[in-house]
Amino acid sequence: MKKADIFVTKPTLPPLDEFIPYLRQIWDNKILTNGGPFHQQLEKELCQYLGVEHICLFTNGTLALVTALQALRITGEVITTPYSFVATSHALLWNGIKPVFADIDPNTLNLDPAKIEAAITPQTTAIMPVHCYGHPCDVEAIQKIADNYNLKVIYDAAHAFGVRCHCGSVLNHGDLSVLSFHATKVFNTFEGGAIVCPDAKTKVRIDQLKNFGHVGETVVVAPGINGKMSEFNAALGLLQLKYIDQALARRKEIDLAYRERLKNVIGIACLNDAGEAVANYAYFPILVKEDFPIRRDDLYQKLKDIGIHPRRYFYPLISEFPMYRGLSSAHRDNLPMATAAAQQVLCLPIYPDLEMSVVDEITRFIADQ
Ligand SMILES: *Cc1c(COP(=O)(O)O)cnc(C)c1O
Repeated sequence: MKKADIFVTKPTLPPLDEFIPYLRQIWDNKILTNGGPFHQQLEKELCQYLGVEHICLFTNGTLALVTALQALRITGEVITTPYSFVATSHALLWNGIKPVFADIDPNTLNLDPAKIEAAITPQTTAIMPVHCYGHPCDVEAIQKIADNYNLKVIYDAAHAFGVRCHCGSVLNHGDLSVLSFHATKVFNTFEGGAIVCPDAKTKVRIDQLKNFGHVGETVVVAPGINGKMSEFNAALGLLQLKYIDQALARRKEIDLAYRERLKNVIGIACLNDAGEAVANYAYFPILVKEDFPIRRDDLYQKLKDIGIHPRRYFYPLISEFPMYRGLSSAHRDNLPMATAAAQQVLCLPIYPDLEMSVVDEITRFIADQ
């Protein structure tokens, strides 16, 4: 029998029979969407779990990003990272905003605060960093620049569910933070997303924007979109929350095992572990350096040949895609660290029911090159 292929992630699902009562309740009360009881309860429970004040649930993370920019009336230019999933910059284009790419810090692979200032122009209105792989950005340095230049900060926190730094949830930094609950993320509602916001007034505005701009029956105050999370997805989220700590604990074990088994492999570098912070172990990126016997793409292919499917997140850089590469900030000379990382990175499989024997197999295979 052929062994099952191993992918970089596998969606985490709760026991099906525990979901049936939720479905029954939806069928009984016939409330399917528009801020129903499961939606309200999930907002409440997520605030408690994550340690944040207000949360607005969305259909997906991308619509949440698009709406976050609208809620703060961001225009002109926004400084962002090329080293991310393409939705980060797409959200800017959907708002008619020009992305300005700045380089990353090679140690964290997050937007380098030292590179932000030089990218500011009179048109700059905001910074949109990403907590890449769930590793917190240098939130203090970024806020200092934002304060100095009167810029907003919107974090793409799609990778950062549950991540805490020394002062509590990393989601409390910046003006808004955006989460994704896509199937591939640490916490999923099949599809879903959210905006974390600091005050009730902003939450009201975001809730209007995700519901066509409707205020009551006859008044429409903004050209909003339909970004509402359904009761089905919210119910699933409530059930997923019951298992999240268990899932994170298992991810941590896998992360530790990879680090232990790869630490003496010449030419392979793991990103720094979380240190003092509470991490979510969403991804396990390694960097395949010049002194590794084979190149990153060869290792990628050889692993695929044995049924292991790592991913080259984030290759190509966002700045290499046709709708971005004409921008002057997209030039490789402006982004040497991001360019190098995109050529070296490989994300290895990590998910709660990944077996340790597979971790052993993968790490042995890498060490044997
Ligand atoms: C997954 C992801 C998104 C998009 O989220 P969706 O819920 O899939 O729309 C945005 N940014 C980053 C960095 C992501 O990884």
